[in-house]
Amino acid sequence: MGTNGTGSYEIIIVGAGPAGQTAALYAGRSRIPTLVLEKGIPGGQLWNTAEVEDYPGFEHIMGPDLADKIQHHAQKFGATFETDEVVSIAAEGDDRVVRTASGNEHRAPAVIVTVGGEARKLGVPGEDELAGKGVSYCAVCDGAFFEGADIAVVGGGDSAVEEGTFLTRYGRRVSLIHRRDEYRAQPILVEQMRATGKVDEVMNKVVEEIHGTDGKVSHLTLRDTVTGEASELAANAVFPFIGFTPHSNIFDPDLASRIELDAEGHIRTDDAMRTSVPGIYAAGDVRSQFVRQITNAVGDATTAALAAHQYVERLKHERLKQTA
Ligand code: NAP
Repeated sequence: MGTNGTGSYEIIIVGAGPAGQTAALYAGRSRIPTLVLEKGIPGGQLWNTAEVEDYPGFEHIMGPDLADKIQHHAQKFGATFETDEVVSIAAEGDDRVVRTASGNEHRAPAVIVTVGGEARKLGVPGEDELAGKGVSYCAVCDGAFFEGADIAVVGGGDSAVEEGTFLTRYGRRVSLIHRRDEYRAQPILVEQMRATGKVDEVMNKVVEEIHGTDGKVSHLTLRDTVTGEASELAANAVFPFIGFTPHSNIFDPDLASRIELDAEGHIRTDDAMRTSVPGIYAAGDVRSQFVRQITNAVGDATTAALAAHQYVERLKHERLKQTA
């Protein structure tokens, strides 16, 4: 089985969001030597999620609190967690090889990829220049800076509607800017947002430019998607929640040519979370799937860990037979 400078692992989990944490919990419980590599704080997108109301057993919990709880639980069963950024995953014979930014190389027969992705940017003038000066992709991190302010949220999916609702705690008004006149978000989330009475729904509009005064966001130029008309909207903060780009570009060129992705770059798996390359599994937001909930991320990660365990045991058995 694979070795490295500090230990010998049979499963390597790349990324410690809810999927990676859960895979670690199950692999640890299976008593299989497991390494989890995470570049930041375990919890992934939960750190960018204000309130969670749809995780069974918790009628209401803040995202970062749930991240901590899952992490505490996952660590109980013996997986090793290391803070390091994975820069590539390769396949060499039966070894899956994980290389990190700090120069480490870890080998194991199975790798579970739970790297998630990152917030999609608007790609408009002013967005990068004013990042951290009113442009933010994390309501729970930055909302409190905008007490009494005019806040704009962009998007019409679950994230925009849910985080927009959360931001009404701070903003004088929250303007939710959506490019169509129909939401993609679940109706219950739209109802909760409307019940605050503090959200202006700005429909059929896209953001064309983010403007600043004295280095801080001051207003937005919007464009009507039906009439083409331009308008201005006062805003001290803008939170784009327009979707997610999966981090599936983590494989070395040879492996990348063999790992099947969907049209949006999510990793395709079968129902045992096996990718198109033996020994490589995927779960969570990086995986091609019908819905992206915390619940199905942790469920799929459970499957991935148990399937990877079975794969490793079978490989060991075959090797023993060959040497007998
Ligand atoms: P999403 O579902 O992909 O929605 C993205 C939204 O942004 C859509 O309304 C889209 O408009 C809009 N959009 C995309 N590109 C845009 C652009 N360039 N300019 C303006 N608007 C743009 O993304 P998400 O809301 O981040 O959710 C991601 C996944 O996580 C989803 O599967 C979601 O269900 C899940 N999630 C679930 C919960 C929950 O259940 N509580 C919470 C958060 C996220 P169109 O509608 O016109 O395409």
